[in-house]
Amino acid sequence: MEINSAQTASFTVDVEDGVSIAMRDAFGVEITPTDRVVKHTHRILEIFSDHGARGTFFTLGIIAEHYPKLVKRIGNEGHELAVHGYNHLLFTNMTPEIAFRELESAKKRIEDLTGREVYGHRAPAFSINPVTSWGLDVIEKCGFTYDSSIMPCKGPRYGWPGFSKDIVTIETPENNRIIEVPMSTVEFMGRDIPACGGSYLRLLPYKMTEKFFTKVQRENPAIVYIHPYELDTERYPDFYFDELKKAPLKTNLSLRSNWLLRNTVEKKFGKLMGLSGSIPLIDIIREKQKGSDLPLVKISQST
Ligand SMILES: [Zn+2]
Repeated sequence: MEINSAQTASFTVDVEDGVSIAMRDAFGVEITPTDRVVKHTHRILEIFSDHGARGTFFTLGIIAEHYPKLVKRIGNEGHELAVHGYNHLLFTNMTPEIAFRELESAKKRIEDLTGREVYGHRAPAFSINPVTSWGLDVIEKCGFTYDSSIMPCKGPRYGWPGFSKDIVTIETPENNRIIEVPMSTVEFMGRDIPACGGSYLRLLPYKMTEKFFTKVQRENPAIVYIHPYELDTERYPDFYFDELKKAPLKTNLSLRSNWLLRNTVEKKFGKLMGLSGSIPLIDIIREKQKGSDLPLVKISQST
């Protein structure tokens, strides 16, 4: 079957626990991942199952370590398992040596659990950008076939403005080759925005997201992304609020803003999936490769 971009989408999930990551990154308190990640990933799996759809689950090694049954269930239900690092460390905060250990150990743990090869990688917070492009060599050296970490626009904390919006083969600074599936962006009021996931999916009215989604599909498969915690509308544990009370006003406001309209995300995600279904990223890549070689993009040394 030839895949027509106009009808193709891949719904992707970054499987991480919002409570433990917020505790560490916002408050400097290390805790093990809570089982909220299990509950809300199960809800996402139900949405896929309701639509007879399959997606790609970029999973942290630490989630596979603490919740192996969850990872097995994702695989058993026909989804693609991929890697989102081991501990959710940003490339902007890692050395190449640490990045290699993070990715290699997460890949091995997930492969050992499912008995199947893992092909894909997504960097936490889309943290592959022109400054961290050395990370592409690390990703390739760990044996991944593709990466899906580049947001081809200018974001507040992420982004690679000007990067291709098409699926391409990257020739890395060290002359290795890796496939890149950039995240979907659309032009809106004169600038590119990442309209198919995260806070845009949460905050924009559904009709607007649908418009952006179909606009993306005129040129490329739409790549949607979601996190299990975005469906979590229950009050976080008291230890979280104890730290939040002590946090500076800016941190406090930014964390509280993450809760706005969370109760709309599950429905929007399902409706969007109903438009054209979803297939794993690796399937999209394989179909594209059947047609012709992917365009080649050469990346020069990180600056
Ligand atoms: Zn993440």
